[in-house]
Amino acid sequence: DRSLVWFRRDLRMTDHAALYYALSQSRQVWCVFVFDTDILAALKAEGVTQDRRIDFLLASVAELDEALRHAGGGLIVLHGSAVTQIPALAAELDVQAVYANTDYEPAAVERDAAVAQTLAKSGAQLLSYKDQVIFEKDEVLTQSAKPFSVFTPYKNAWMSKLAAADGDFFLKPYPVEKYLTALASPPGKAGHALPSHRQLGFAPSNLQELKIPTGMSGAQSLLDEFLDRIGSYGAARDFPAVKGPSYLSVHLRFGTISIRTLARAAMQAMHAGQGAAGAAVWLSELTWRDFYFMILHHHPRVTRHAFKPEYDAIQWEQGPQAEALFAAWCEGRTGYPLVDAAMAQINQSGYMHNRLRMVVASFLTKDLGIDWRWGERYFARHLNDFDLAANNGGWQWASSSGCDAQPYFRIFNPVTQSEKFDPDGKFIRRYLPQLAKLSNKRIHAPWTATPDERMDAGVVLGQNYPRPIVDHAQARERTLARYAVVKKAE
Ligand code: FAD
Repeated sequence: DRSLVWFRRDLRMTDHAALYYALSQSRQVWCVFVFDTDILAALKAEGVTQDRRIDFLLASVAELDEALRHAGGGLIVLHGSAVTQIPALAAELDVQAVYANTDYEPAAVERDAAVAQTLAKSGAQLLSYKDQVIFEKDEVLTQSAKPFSVFTPYKNAWMSKLAAADGDFFLKPYPVEKYLTALASPPGKAGHALPSHRQLGFAPSNLQELKIPTGMSGAQSLLDEFLDRIGSYGAARDFPAVKGPSYLSVHLRFGTISIRTLARAAMQAMHAGQGAAGAAVWLSELTWRDFYFMILHHHPRVTRHAFKPEYDAIQWEQGPQAEALFAAWCEGRTGYPLVDAAMAQINQSGYMHNRLRMVVASFLTKDLGIDWRWGERYFARHLNDFDLAANNGGWQWASSSGCDAQPYFRIFNPVTQSEKFDPDGKFIRRYLPQLAKLSNKRIHAPWTATPDERMDAGVVLGQNYPRPIVDHAQARERTLARYAVVKKAE
């Protein structure tokens, strides 16, 4: 009847599966969050000195602690290796069970197995619950009881499970608030308080300057604001200069809002009639999220390999020239304005619009011939919303090696993508002010402007803006040749 709730990527107090089960099954419940040195050390080893996600975590953990305190509990915040600290704390508090929400990433699965094993030695258990997704693992299967590998039939099956007689059950919030009396206060020991940036070994980032809202309150305010314009999501979502998407991804990543709350809001908007079409498209994006978690669960090999094995035979560019091209991509110096503006967006803010993620991923793999894993790693390092499942899925989609990917012969043209999705160059101008004076016609491909046009706009190629590092038409031919190994295998 004494238990511990281990918060990880679920930094909220409402509609929280593990917290609900712990509170409703125990007499005394403590809550803990660990700044895990196993994760932080890996960042430091890469030379990272600041990371927006650290700031996001610090702010969100502080808000969670305050909310728990307000309800009579509080958060024990540790800084160390979770694998040893969780069992040690469990022993110290003499709890019989540690409750947590299931994490599907291979490294987390391994960590949790190690924690469970240590706990078992002292007779305690690690209990884990589905919380991060609507449907997990084997809950949505094909008619022959196999996991899906194509999205549309998966989505249809996912939707019909929700539409079934017992469908409401999957969206019902966990009524945590009814059981709060079981919350226990932290023992108030030294080393249990929120660490500072310095204690964690990171300098503050620019997260605050960016005004990215954090914590449960931040998630709620973003959702409220988005619900007012969800109806236009379908039409607006592809245009990076427009406020089309919800910007909730970082909140889903850290669980400051529950996926059930979001799915319920989408369903309500769908049934309300007003904004129904936009809400249906948005719900479908949330389904993609579930889909990639399911793929990762069934095929953990995708973290290193192509989902379609024949794509592992592709010979990517290697060596100093490839590294120089990669550096130009990372730093937004490719000479293709939409690509460079997109890279400026991720580098400055840790966010990148979905259309642009597709454009830059395609550019890296199919214009520069660089292994999708290089890009995947860069995104993992820089995205605030980095999520192994969705990131790997997105990269394998763009490189055509994924389960339900773009066919390899469909190669985005970075200039036409720009003309189509940033027609007035508004997004480009925001991130590349040196091109701002080019006309709407020329801004997508400054090298096509006449010398006079460039002079009038103050653009000097090779000086204040690079010449294109590859010729798209030639790159396209090289890519088709590179991918020929796949066609042979098929
Ligand atoms: P909205 O359009 O408001 O969508 C709502 C939510 O739906 C998102 O927050 C996200 O949770 C989910 N979602 C939307 N699109 C997708 C998708 N294609 N796959 C899975 N879930 C989706 N998303 C991440 O959350 N983390 C990543 O690391 C990530 N890496 C990506 C890498 C590439 C190469 C690509 C092409 C896409 C990636 N995505 C990733 C998916 C998508 O780009 C982001 O989820 C989206 O841009 C986040 O912005 P938003 O919250 O405003 O999205």
